[in-house]
Amino acid sequence: MSLPRFSAVDTILNRNSSDYDFIDSQSESIASYFGCNVFSNESMLKYLSEETYQKLRDAIKAGKNLSRDLSVEVANGMQKWATDKGATHYAHWFQPLTGRTAEKHDSFFNITPDGSAIEEFSGDALAQQEPDGSSFPGGGLRSTFEARGYTAWDPSSPAFILEVGESRTLCIPTIFVTYGGEALDYKLPLLKSEDYLEKAALKVIKLFKSNEDVSRVSVTLGWEQEYFLVDEALFYARPDLMLTGRTLIGKIAPKGQQLDDHYFGSIPKRILTYMRDLEKECHKLGIPVRTRHNEVGPGQYELAPMFEEVNVAVDHNQLLMDLMDRVAIKHKLRVLLHEKPFAGVNGSGKHNNWSMSTNTGKNLLKPGKQPGKNLEFLTFFVTTIRAVHEHADLLRASVASASNDHRLGANEAPPAIISVFIGEFLSKVMKDIASEKLSDDAGVKDVMELLSKIPELEKDNTDRNRTSPFAFTGNKFEIRMVGSTKNCASPMTVMNAIVGKQLEDFYSKVESLISDGMNKEAAILSVIRTYIIESEPVLFEGDGYSDEWKEDAEKRGLPNTPNTPDAIKAYVTEKSRALFKETNVLSEKELEAHYEVMVENYILNLQIESRTLGEMVINHVLPAAIKYQNELALNVKNLKELGLDKDKFEAPFTLLNDIAENIALIKKNVLLMTDERRKGNDYEEADEIAHAYCYKVKPLMEKIRVYVDRLEYLVSDEYWPIVKYRELMFIK
Ligand code: ADP
Ligand code: MG
Repeated sequence: MSLPRFSAVDTILNRNSSDYDFIDSQSESIASYFGCNVFSNESMLKYLSEETYQKLRDAIKAGKNLSRDLSVEVANGMQKWATDKGATHYAHWFQPLTGRTAEKHDSFFNITPDGSAIEEFSGDALAQQEPDGSSFPGGGLRSTFEARGYTAWDPSSPAFILEVGESRTLCIPTIFVTYGGEALDYKLPLLKSEDYLEKAALKVIKLFKSNEDVSRVSVTLGWEQEYFLVDEALFYARPDLMLTGRTLIGKIAPKGQQLDDHYFGSIPKRILTYMRDLEKECHKLGIPVRTRHNEVGPGQYELAPMFEEVNVAVDHNQLLMDLMDRVAIKHKLRVLLHEKPFAGVNGSGKHNNWSMSTNTGKNLLKPGKQPGKNLEFLTFFVTTIRAVHEHADLLRASVASASNDHRLGANEAPPAIISVFIGEFLSKVMKDIASEKLSDDAGVKDVMELLSKIPELEKDNTDRNRTSPFAFTGNKFEIRMVGSTKNCASPMTVMNAIVGKQLEDFYSKVESLISDGMNKEAAILSVIRTYIIESEPVLFEGDGYSDEWKEDAEKRGLPNTPNTPDAIKAYVTEKSRALFKETNVLSEKELEAHYEVMVENYILNLQIESRTLGEMVINHVLPAAIKYQNELALNVKNLKELGLDKDKFEAPFTLLNDIAENIALIKKNVLLMTDERRKGNDYEEADEIAHAYCYKVKPLMEKIRVYVDRLEYLVSDEYWPIVKYRELMFIK
């Protein structure tokens, strides 16, 4: 369905203001309902026996599997809790490689042939399911005879009740695997990576005296979600928004974000109502969202929670994206999560703030007042930087997608080159350490003496550089190149794996120096120093958008891959294969399969975009332009026949000429594009198809857009069949 643009605008104008006033006053306090739809500790205490509760907590704390008996007891309590809250169905909730979430609902009860109802939710139903997700991408992991996927309960992420309209469904977070246990989702690799990092971090942490009580290290993630909102009627009037989530054509409006009047500006009432409603839904599910504000682009906003343990934070972000869609529909709005819905204005990202913290409550990336003298902070800080330098290509690959290519490669924050920004003060600390050398027989005293030469923090160490893709912001690293649609699990998995591996490396280097007779503190400082020197090329404080940086980065040997098909190859290099194997995050077979899905996703995305563009151009744009062309032709003909001088009909004549020229160019290039698509599809290997879409089809799409946007300027507004940027971005 595609409404002509005028009926779309009319729909909006004819709406009642009361259409938007249905949201309750929200007078109740957040605290009274926060987490009310989560099977939280509080609910567990109420619905599980003391003993079951303790056993479950212990198992979760220790990251252990649950016994069958325990599952049965938990299932009973969970079901009672859920039915008390009005739930009628339960679902295993998982994150297939499509990138969003999936759920298959089953009723708690079944009707037997004699008409009586029997309970269907057992310990087994909680622990494992066979949702037969054979249509989810599996990258060849499932040959047809074992096409089924299995979901298995992840007790470390709490179950919750999803309310949609009148329905209430108990959702159980699960992993999604093959019969052989291979990961078909984002979650299992994430959990494994966290496990690996934890083991490595625990070893390293024990090098420092103050950490005797530490028995667990977890990764923390605080995401920041950017998004656009558009009116529903306008959304439906654009086939490209409906089918691809972005505008494939559309002339930039005379006013965009030049005036910076949208950023942090006052939030329009309708949008604020949406935000409040969304926050309420988030709070019910225990998603601790806290900040909301306008972003740079007109119609662009941001939402961020307090940080959480990474597994839960990932689930919460996935859940959030789902809620955003659902709540928007209630408000006659549509959320655009795409990284670049509009050309010419800011795209949307999802900053991932990453850190590590101990069960004793210590943030391992907190510098304290004297970072230069804090060996423990320096260890985790420098190890992370070293890991990013070592695996910059893989980190880049972890955020690659057809949609994110519009941000990363395309002169927009941040660039596709991975560099690390640490601020002026810490840069100086790094330089100072790198320039001082310890003698081989240095003792604790010498180490302290050397460190005491390093100056104290004089000013705020969190100065910002918005052009950096990876920045230290006070007590965490902020990964800015993540795209707004992305499942955070991918970059988080890579972060955990690479930092975990580097920590292992750190530990063994320190141990080896100690066994050579070096004092422990001196050994630690010595490895830190080596790491700093080795990582120097990845540290960059300048303007990441500049052309000079691209040249400089190349000299430094930093990879720069603006396009997904090239970028994701980093997953299957010898180095990455070894990394995934060693960290136990992905087996060789899983890695191949996941890579295959990435390539496939890329191809499908571009294919859908290219087809949609072709249709829009042939069915909407050209007919409108031709109609107007006829009108102009008639006008010229009439003026000529009336005997007017040539200069009197020159204006409509040149206009006609320009329109005709663009029509011809569009038609020609649409044919070429279709042809390139066909040729691309004929390739044997997926890699070759992706390459063809990237380097043959995509440039033609861009070219067609230029001509279409010119037509939009030339053709009468009355005839133009597609909602314009002006309307999409400024009708609130
Ligand atoms: P911005 O980057 O927009 O200026 P902030 O610097 O305040 O905003 O970053 C806020 C984000 O950082 C929040 O999502 C918050 O949860 C997250 N954050 C803060 N501390 C940590 C931490 N130790 N680990 C992970 N994320 C954190
Ligand atoms: Mg940020």
